[in-house]
Amino acid sequence: MVTWKWTLTGFLLLSFGAVAQQPTDGSLSPHTNPARTAQAAGPASPESSSAQAVQPPPTTMDQVVDRAIQREHALMNFLKSRTPLVETYLQNLKPDPDLGAVPKEDHYFLGRIDLASVDRHDYLSKDENFEKNLLGGFIKLFRSEYQPMGFSWMIFADRDDFGRIHYDFKYSHREFAGDVRCLVFDVTPKKDAGKGRFVGRIWVEDQDYNIVRLNGIYAPRPRNAYFFHMDSWRLNLVPGYWLPAYIYSEEGDFSYGHKDKIAFKAQSRVWGYNLRQTGKEDELTDVKVDAVKDESPAAADASPLEAQRQRQQQAEYNVVVRLEQAGLLAPTGDVDKVLDTVINNLIVTNNLVLARPVHARVMLTTPLETFSVGNTIVVSRGLIDVLPDEPSLAAVLSHELAHIALGHNLGSKFAFSDRMLFTDDKTYTNMGFRHSPAEETAADAKAMELLKNSPYAQKIDTASLFFKQLSARAPQLQALLTTHLGNSFVTGKGELIRLATLEGTGPALDINKLDQIAALPIGGRIKLNAWDDKIELSKSAPVAIVTARDKMPLEVTPFFPHLARMNAAETPAAQKASADSPVDSANTPQHERLNPGTR
Ligand SMILES: [Zn+2]
Repeated sequence: MVTWKWTLTGFLLLSFGAVAQQPTDGSLSPHTNPARTAQAAGPASPESSSAQAVQPPPTTMDQVVDRAIQREHALMNFLKSRTPLVETYLQNLKPDPDLGAVPKEDHYFLGRIDLASVDRHDYLSKDENFEKNLLGGFIKLFRSEYQPMGFSWMIFADRDDFGRIHYDFKYSHREFAGDVRCLVFDVTPKKDAGKGRFVGRIWVEDQDYNIVRLNGIYAPRPRNAYFFHMDSWRLNLVPGYWLPAYIYSEEGDFSYGHKDKIAFKAQSRVWGYNLRQTGKEDELTDVKVDAVKDESPAAADASPLEAQRQRQQQAEYNVVVRLEQAGLLAPTGDVDKVLDTVINNLIVTNNLVLARPVHARVMLTTPLETFSVGNTIVVSRGLIDVLPDEPSLAAVLSHELAHIALGHNLGSKFAFSDRMLFTDDKTYTNMGFRHSPAEETAADAKAMELLKNSPYAQKIDTASLFFKQLSARAPQLQALLTTHLGNSFVTGKGELIRLATLEGTGPALDINKLDQIAALPIGGRIKLNAWDDKIELSKSAPVAIVTARDKMPLEVTPFFPHLARMNAAETPAAQKASADSPVDSANTPQHERLNPGTR
């Protein structure tokens, strides 16, 4: 039996944002130094470091261009054995008299790409399907795609022909991108360079001359393909290399009298560069189970109840490890601790007695979902991104905690190792943690009771607004609200399924009330390390909301990451950025984003 030593923490009633900046044990630093982790993780780049060492610094802009071209080819070479996950979430837009462009419908794509085989011909295929042209056939949900995927145009400027033969480079100006001094060049394809060439701007950092940002489009457009404007960001996550991590795409013009057929905003994220490569479809992934500790008293056989609990714990461990291997679950880290604190607050104030501690983990995907397996509660990154504050986070967690408290244990079939033998792309078909409607109803009732006894009881209005917002936007955001492993929050028609009693409480949803923040835009809270999948809470300062159009609940917004060199992680500037003053979102309308200063 575990001894209970829970204590209430000091930041019990602070906003989520404030909690984020004050982890319980002050151990944020190990995860904010990607240099250390990347070096530990392996393939540093002797090739790049030594190559850089022998080359004298360029003295002309022409030499800078040559170095940038050379580094781009080195990056392609470095990544060619990698099969990262790529996720794209896209919202089609329609004009709204009050809010400007609002989502009309949405699409979600998740898969793995083989960077060895992408080339510029992928996106020049004859397929007329909109999505296929946008994503090069990348349409199946979490399917390992080892064929060319057509993503090259988003990840590299030109996979095949990036060089002076096909392009002209014109120096524009110097500019800081975050902490990184950059030389900015305009890139245009030469006459007769062929279709689908990059036209736009590149940002080249001034130390090793890697491209850190690409902004532009591909032209001219072939007859049967669409190209879209994109803003592609790279992060220095491995010594000497800047890895493609975030891509924002946008098309459409809603100015008066203008009629665009296609209007959308899309966020693409790349991660899992350093995942073990399970490789081909027929290669099965085995799960080691020997790390589960036997907690039964020494030299004693397990009692029937203990045996049952050990089996559930085994299953929980198997599932967590398997999801991590598939690149769907972040490694344990500080975001888990924030979630654990909120869970703890619910447990302690309700005097819940549980057989084992409950812990939270974060799934790396965008669709809003939660589920629990054994005593592990899993929350998606997208959901954490859009939750407006700590009480709404508590409401979401309370439902899963209720399942655990009521003994609604799912997934114990995964205690059998053979059930863990499947390829990564089959994760969503082989796993599932959905409860019956009866268990859902019971968990909701228990969750309301847990919330009522908790410190969040007085601030539950924002949670009720959050669920009202989900319900209001559900018909347009079905992809975002389609769960893959857990139970749904709402029906496609907008009928609230989860915690439906919250809908009847609190104020009415009113987009024009600026002090009402029901849900945040997507992508503002969690920063994902594309190399090792570690996550941390974003350090952006809150931005005041001035008009209803600033709210953008559950909407796609542009990426604007703060670029920094790996070894600069512990500079005074980086420390200053993390010392933002906590602001209670219940009183001050705010958005937290990747870089508020650039809006
Ligand atoms: Zn449930």
